[in-house]
Amino acid sequence: MLFYAQAEKTARMKAETKEKTLKTFLLSQRHIVYTDPVDVKAGQDVTVYYNPSNTVLNGKPEVWFRGSFNQWTHRRGPLPPQKMYPAENGTHVKTTVKVPLDAYMMDFVFSEWEDGGIFDNKFGMDYHVPVFGGIAKEPPMHIVHIAVEMAPIAKVGGLGDVVTSLSRAVQDLNHHVDVILPKYQCLNLNHVKDFHHAKSYSWGGTEIKVWFGKVEGLSVHFLEPLNGLLQTNSVYIGKNDGERFGFFCHAALEYLLQSGFHPDIIHCHDWSSAPVAWLYKEHYGQYGLTNARVVFTIHNLEFGAYFIGRAMEYADKATTVSNTYAKEVAGNPAIAPHLYKFHGILNGIDPDIWDPFNDKFIPVNYTSENVAEGKKAAKEALQQRFSIKKGDFPLVGIITRLTHQKGIHLIKHAIWRTIERGGQVVLLGSAPDPRIQQEFVDVANRLHNMHHDRAGLCLNYDEPLSHLIYAGADLILVPSIFEPCGLTQLVAMRYGSIPVVRKTGGLHDTVFDVDHDVERARAQGLEPNGFNFEGADPAGVDYALDRAISAWYDAKEWFNTLRKRVMEQDWSWNRPALEYMELYHAAWKN
Ligand code: ADP
Repeated sequence: MLFYAQAEKTARMKAETKEKTLKTFLLSQRHIVYTDPVDVKAGQDVTVYYNPSNTVLNGKPEVWFRGSFNQWTHRRGPLPPQKMYPAENGTHVKTTVKVPLDAYMMDFVFSEWEDGGIFDNKFGMDYHVPVFGGIAKEPPMHIVHIAVEMAPIAKVGGLGDVVTSLSRAVQDLNHHVDVILPKYQCLNLNHVKDFHHAKSYSWGGTEIKVWFGKVEGLSVHFLEPLNGLLQTNSVYIGKNDGERFGFFCHAALEYLLQSGFHPDIIHCHDWSSAPVAWLYKEHYGQYGLTNARVVFTIHNLEFGAYFIGRAMEYADKATTVSNTYAKEVAGNPAIAPHLYKFHGILNGIDPDIWDPFNDKFIPVNYTSENVAEGKKAAKEALQQRFSIKKGDFPLVGIITRLTHQKGIHLIKHAIWRTIERGGQVVLLGSAPDPRIQQEFVDVANRLHNMHHDRAGLCLNYDEPLSHLIYAGADLILVPSIFEPCGLTQLVAMRYGSIPVVRKTGGLHDTVFDVDHDVERARAQGLEPNGFNFEGADPAGVDYALDRAISAWYDAKEWFNTLRKRVMEQDWSWNRPALEYMELYHAAWKN
């Protein structure tokens, strides 16, 4: 009984969040474009409002609306251009359009003249608004990911998470998704359902066996060349990764061709499946496997810059995992020539894995309604676990790989500063570099001697413990030097912990300072949700950490409201999936 009630509430909260996110997404460009009504209905009139002062059409004497329906494929073709007239609000211009009954999407751009001139086409994406209640349905797109990692069966880092969770979110929007993956020896087959041998084909002087199975509800095709090239005990082995993955990319395209697949989008990732981009454009796209568009996502520019640059050249559209990181890497020679087709789209977190309402690793399950109670219980459990003093102190959590990227000197400083301010710190961190591991062992020993009731360090990788820290902490600190997207701050918010972050990459795009970013947050349809700082020095950390700790001491009620607020923000894949769909459509239009 209880179980069903919980499951039902979980499903209801999920559906509500999804709907709210879609609305926010539609209204997020309100300062540029919005419609009245917001829910555009088939068979009815809709008025489009446009504010050119924030676009390339700023100052032009005229603005023309050019639109159509159903991703520009509507049977009646594009509407004749319509001149827009000043709206009542003094900032926007407007025009009214009749929406046909068989529309599921309205598409438009703006131009300075009736016959063209300068266009605002939203940086090549065009403007799109979904149409509700029509008699036609959006035809599903077919997307094939070619990737070397996939969570949870072959995960090394964020790339593996993205392949799985982006695919699931896009599939939930009723599109078809397939994933092609090497059949490593180290695959975790416990997570593969209905695993079976599907077919074999010959290519590259060897026979290739194709295995098929379902992973998290996704169709996955595993390639096993009998020459043994992909039969490895880990995803990356170092010595001939380039050769192995090059072979895999080629074999994957050959498989699509020989099996008669006709995907709309082939999506490849990082240097490891970058070769797909040029192999497709130079060979497969020209014979047999025609009509697909190639999308390429950069998860990390640290490795394989040459391959990444080459894929950037051939891909129809390219992305990286946040807008700010996209700007930060814009000057890199691998990226700079291709900015016109390069977009930032944030990663999301999986709301089933990170869910305080159904989490088995925390003592009391909670939603935003009983966050205070849930976090109090988790804090006590955490204090017990680390043998630090029980009681209500401001508790700072740090969960991280301990590498230069993550701001090690800032982490050390923050530990001492928090203790000075009467707070407690728990750190869960794993250091791949033994010297850094030793540095933190030393820190742990010193803390143990001086402040054993104030700080606890766990220098391992421990997923269950990470859940308890996200739930039991008041603040989660992420002082990265650079951060393409970052998931820690997003998980923190899901558990009602307030992020304190350095303003870089995805941290900048997801954490809005309560004192400084009210406007920036509202432009995204959000309220501010944390504390941030610029400088990569102790003064920087102190600036944000001090304000956060002071708020905890002096404004308890406000702090509690802030917890509820961050829990209710949607940092799942709901919104990124909509953005990827727009990108896929834009790739298609080119
Ligand atoms: P990166 O991929 O660069 O390490 P992200 O912020 O994108 O950084 O992702 C980090 C993820 O790994 C988060 O989900 C975080 O909870 C988890 N994590 C990091 N270190 C540990 C650890 N020592 N134990 C458990 N989980 C960890």
